[in-house]
Amino acid sequence: MAVVTGASSGIGAATARALARDGYFVVVGARRTDRIDALADEIGGRAMYLDVTDPASVERFAATLDTVHVLVNNAGGAKGLAPIAEANLDDWRWMWETNVVGTLRITKALLPALIASGDGLIVTVTSIAALDTYDNGGGYTSAKHAQGVLHRTLRPELLGKPVRLTEVCPGMVETEFSLVRFEGDAERAEKVYDGLTPLTADDVADVIAFAASRPPHVNLDQIVIKPRDQVDARRNIRTG
Ligand code: NAP
Repeated sequence: MAVVTGASSGIGAATARALARDGYFVVVGARRTDRIDALADEIGGRAMYLDVTDPASVERFAATLDTVHVLVNNAGGAKGLAPIAEANLDDWRWMWETNVVGTLRITKALLPALIASGDGLIVTVTSIAALDTYDNGGGYTSAKHAQGVLHRTLRPELLGKPVRLTEVCPGMVETEFSLVRFEGDAERAEKVYDGLTPLTADDVADVIAFAASRPPHVNLDQIVIKPRDQVDARRNIRTG
């Protein structure tokens, strides 16, 4: 049984499909229940409302799950693109609450069920923004760094327990990510991917499904996946 957070679009939805294709019963969580209901119907899984920033929602979600083999911490995203001097504190709070504290909440809540499975796997979708910084991205890069540190700290803490940990760090993936970052400005969001070929959500989902398909003694610690057209968080084929 697998759980995917933030499964209503992008990488989360694609990962739910990939894990279902590989034979997992998948529980999909997100706030937009119309979308996850349709996805659960399509893949023969179960949809449950989940807001990772709401302790009561996480508690209700976790209470229905006794045994979990795979947890994909995918819910997250960015808001805004501004220099530190002009940082919007509400945007920062949203990014920290969703990516960092949200991941902590759901991981903590499902840890007993992951251990109970006898062969658990926690996949956390951080970003290349968890490994590097870029101008105007401080709110997102700091949140993704913190999320990565949280995930990496769990690895030694769980040594001796039957739980593997895989961090997946994607570069540019064309999803609703930029639409959310720019508060629904579709034109600005599309420009992010102008003149280059970004990853698709399926490209990342395939890698997550591969990690989940390894035998219990094999731990893929960290996987960095970028488009060929992107070198790092600052340089791509367009910017040179
Ligand atoms: P997306 O299409 O915007 O998907 C984000 C998902 O997160 C949605 O399903 C959304 O669902 C969910 N989410 C947001 N806030 C939530 C909350 N409070 N509770 C539960 N779910 C929540 O973007 P994506 O690119 O697939 O992003 C998935 C992950 O990949 C994120 O962690 C993102 O930071 C990371 N990432 C993305 C890229 C990229 O270039 N796209 C690169 C590196 C890493 P609801 O709104 O329905 O709740």
